[in-house]
Amino acid sequence: MSEMIFPALTIPDTLAAGPGPGNTDARVLAAFAGAGVADHMQADVLRGMIECKHMLRTLWGTKNAYTYGVGGTGFSGLDCMLSAILPGDSVVAFINGTFSGIDGLTIRMKAATREDLAANPMDPKPANVTIITVPHGQSVTGEMVAKVLAQHKPKWAFMAHWETGSGRINDLQGFSDACLAHGALGLVDAVSSLGIADFAIDDFPGVVGWASCPQKGVLCLPMTYAPVSFTDRYIAEVRKTGVATYVHHPVLEARHWGVIDCQDVATPAYHRTHSGYAIAAFHEALRITLQHGRAQKARDYAFHEAALRDAVIAMGCTVTSNMTSLVVLNLPANLAGREKELVQKARAKGFGIWPTLSEPVQVRIGILNQLSAAAITDITRRFAAGMMELGADIDMTKVLAGLSRHYATAVAAE
Ligand SMILES: *Cc1c(COP(=O)(O)O)cnc(C)c1O
Repeated sequence: MSEMIFPALTIPDTLAAGPGPGNTDARVLAAFAGAGVADHMQADVLRGMIECKHMLRTLWGTKNAYTYGVGGTGFSGLDCMLSAILPGDSVVAFINGTFSGIDGLTIRMKAATREDLAANPMDPKPANVTIITVPHGQSVTGEMVAKVLAQHKPKWAFMAHWETGSGRINDLQGFSDACLAHGALGLVDAVSSLGIADFAIDDFPGVVGWASCPQKGVLCLPMTYAPVSFTDRYIAEVRKTGVATYVHHPVLEARHWGVIDCQDVATPAYHRTHSGYAIAAFHEALRITLQHGRAQKARDYAFHEAALRDAVIAMGCTVTSNMTSLVVLNLPANLAGREKELVQKARAKGFGIWPTLSEPVQVRIGILNQLSAAAITDITRRFAAGMMELGADIDMTKVLAGLSRHYATAVAAE
């Protein structure tokens, strides 16, 4: 084959208005590009990692020593957290959309024996894992969790906090309480809620492991770190049983962030080659989030999501989600079945909205890092234009008047 060199790659600036990733803040990009060349054991890189660890504890609302970032995407942090599940372990996992569905697959792979894997290598179904499927568009409730845990008494229980596939918030308090009541170790996918919802993980003692991501609420896409946090109970389990991974080892990975033998140490130890650029970007993303304030940021998301929700309802859509970073909707009856066409046309124009990835097909519009009246109005206008192109009859004066009223209330309230 002949050697091929392609022209330099250009990627356009789109409006990332989907479930994630969100638009990365210019401050984060500047920190990334402005970092000097320094190796992974250079003093300021290590200081940056230790400072990130402390900022992450504030963001997660925890005193857990084992709080740090796992290099990679959301699923890297989840892989680290779920690595504590060993072949043969009993697990109950609650699934209500695409992402918890993939987490369920990870859990089945990890809890599988060699025989389970050989029987179905890509999609093992070990008998020791119980998957409870909650229909798309519905939330996992505390009552459901309590009932199933009472029946199965598993070692581990798993749930997504916010399921981005269907845009649903699941009952964290109910999950934690049920885990405590039935002696299960709770594991939570907080990929979509950290940095958006106002919660402190130390308030949920039934949950021993938490995993999030760099591209949603924390807004640090330049491939950085998936935040994780583990309680002493979780770490004790890992120290007792071991896990079958070096790179995502919940105890060993923490060494580079200055956590050794359950304690903060001033001199971190090598685990793998971290990037000074990534650390600088992650550090700035955490500073931005904490400067905004966890509670204020949560209020801002709720406020702007309500504006967008009302606008799409005024266009004739029905909203089925209850997350504050994402609106999941059904198109009006006369456009039903044309969701993918609408999304494809929008994406071709640089308006990055998404369909749902599992049935039923719905449209997802996200507002990550779009917390202003101007940004929400822009999203509203672009979405309305897309619907009108397919023949929708929309009273734009009414839609925009609704947005104006929403934002006027805010000014009046200030
Ligand atoms: C986005 C998402 C993931 C996957 O994150 P990646 O960064 O794509 O690896 C997992 N779980 C939930 C709930 C998500 O929203």
